[in-house]
Amino acid sequence: MRILGVDIGGTNIDVVLYDGSFHKIGSFSTKEAFSSGINEFLSKIVETTEANAVGVGAAVWYKKGKPIHAPNLPSLPDISLDVPTTIENDANCFAVYAHSVFGFSNLIAITVGTGVGSGIIMNGELYRGDGLAGEIGHCYVGGKRKCSCGGVGHLEAYFSGRALEKYGDVRELVSSGKIYSLQEFDMFCIAVANAVKLLDPSAVVIGGRLGIALSIDRVANGIHRYLNHGFKPSIVTLEDELAVAKGACLVCLKTISES
Ligand SMILES: [Zn+2]
Repeated sequence: MRILGVDIGGTNIDVVLYDGSFHKIGSFSTKEAFSSGINEFLSKIVETTEANAVGVGAAVWYKKGKPIHAPNLPSLPDISLDVPTTIENDANCFAVYAHSVFGFSNLIAITVGTGVGSGIIMNGELYRGDGLAGEIGHCYVGGKRKCSCGGVGHLEAYFSGRALEKYGDVRELVSSGKIYSLQEFDMFCIAVANAVKLLDPSAVVIGGRLGIALSIDRVANGIHRYLNHGFKPSIVTLEDELAVAKGACLVCLKTISES
């Protein structure tokens, strides 16, 4: 079985092939792939890699399996290929891969990049609710700042790569340590702590380009400041830029093995 894992993000599309182990196929421009037609783009890669199935992880909100919103993509992707295909929210794929790496049966995985996403593993299984479970980036944290989703006062409108650009170079903000004294960082820690109190996971796994650049000790201290009475999740980083694509492979593999 050769499964393609595809991570469709706002800027890049990362592709891996799984045949018992993972191999990177490439990284492509999202804009170019959408302008040539996302199905044509993916079909060509399926053909050249001789893949039997495709797992897609996309920056898309799925409600009961149907794509309803994709604020960071050029358009809502309507994916239809000649081989069996699964489609999953990208943060959910990240959570599935984090589960395979760390083994925690209950975890919250959070990606902080251009936006903020999260996925939940409960009792070893991905928890979707009616499809939208885990949208921590779109929880209300106060204030009136407009969010990419059209809402107001959401976490992503304050603490995300895009939102923090108002302070200048975000990498410099992190490397200088200034980010940890911002109110926005505190908002992030409060939102994560609230999620921990709802679900009591064994671990919080942090990923995403900005997430992995943060000091995990500062993040852990920030979150634990708002926890008490026995809430003691491990706070860990998963540093793998292909984590979503790999998780998409695993979602596809599981679906196929269960069918
Ligand atoms: Zn939002």
